Amino acid sequence: MKIGIVKERSANERRCAVSPDTVKKYVGLGAQVAIETGAGLSAAITDDAFKAAGAEIVGDAASALGGADLVLKVQRPDADELGHIKRGAVLAAILNPYNAKESIADYATRGIDAMAMELVPRITRAQAMDVLSSQANLAGYRAVIDAAAEFGRAFPMMMTAAGTVAPARVLVMGVGVAGLQAIATARRLGAIVSATDVRPATKEQVNSLGATFVAVEDEEFKQAETTAGYAKPMSPEYQAKQAALIAETIKKQDIVITTALIPGRKAPELVSAEMVQSMKPGSVIVDLAVEQGGNCALSELDKVVEKHGVKIVGHANVASRTAVDSTSLYAKNLLNFVQLLVDKETKGLKINWEDEIVKGVALTRDGQVIHPNFKS
Ligand code: NAD
Repeated sequence: MKIGIVKERSANERRCAVSPDTVKKYVGLGAQVAIETGAGLSAAITDDAFKAAGAEIVGDAASALGGADLVLKVQRPDADELGHIKRGAVLAAILNPYNAKESIADYATRGIDAMAMELVPRITRAQAMDVLSSQANLAGYRAVIDAAAEFGRAFPMMMTAAGTVAPARVLVMGVGVAGLQAIATARRLGAIVSATDVRPATKEQVNSLGATFVAVEDEEFKQAETTAGYAKPMSPEYQAKQAALIAETIKKQDIVITTALIPGRKAPELVSAEMVQSMKPGSVIVDLAVEQGGNCALSELDKVVEKHGVKIVGHANVASRTAVDSTSLYAKNLLNFVQLLVDKETKGLKINWEDEIVKGVALTRDGQVIHPNFKS
């Protein structure tokens, strides 16, 4: 079995789909791993480190992908990369299928069995393959670090001979994996933290991290979680009540980190232009949902903008800004997934298409679109 790895081409992508540790494991499974030269450099992994782990370093994407039975990537492949992947190959990556529905038909036409890693079901057995969690955790951490870097003041309270520095006030909106890590990171830096979410289960989690919970806790709020653990879209009435509460809260904040997402939909707008205007000059907003349309009305994708004296940070692909760790965890998630697909006896791919995890991620098989969410 040949595994093909290329240097990621998307702007802002610093991660790699394998690490030296996982290459060693693939070689141990009997695979030949071909890696395009320089694929790991932006995550501080040299060709030599990959070579020492047992990979073969090749000069270009065509040589890495040509003849590969399994292609592991971070981002969706572009047309050129797809052109090098053979019929019948398995492709596993963050394929972003909801935002690129046309690409799914393309995988089918090309006979590529495409697996979208962000669709791994949230069941215990799949936790070690959950790329959304491993990457969101680092993005939540990085959002606070980025906020601190843009903020002209300190986070912790400091009592000095020259006077007292007040602690920063941080509001985290959306308390999933990223939000929880943002709360913990802001607390570690010494800020006074509050947080809001529409899922009731988050209240206890917020409190257990030493932060204050802020939300409209009405009947709709009590029903706002799906069985899969995600947020439901909220009614316009609830959103109005929530907006009024947030408008009052936000005026007193120095830093706002927004992470609110609804799978497969545009992110809810939680911070209006008026709310931004109500904040103190020098405040900072980091919008982690900017790639899904943004939680803040004034955030701009991949830019740091200043509006009404407030800096609004809209970096794309925030997990990739901590590329060494995000690569190491993403590569491990992929390895755990691939172990599910490989037959230990024959050392080749043997996919159980009835497995709940495979069913969750498989978009295409043998030239057909098979995922229920994307079948036409
Ligand atoms: P996410 O990235 O989809 O969304 C981030 C947060 O935004 C969520 O907490 C969501 O409730 C919140 N949100 C949505 N609309 C909002 C609004 N209008 N106002 C405020 N907040 C809003 O979420 P996630 O990080 O993927 O986590 C979702 C849940 O899944 C969490 O409970 C998490 O602990 C759980 N989870 C379970 C597993 C597992 O069991 N294997 C793995 C990962 C996460």
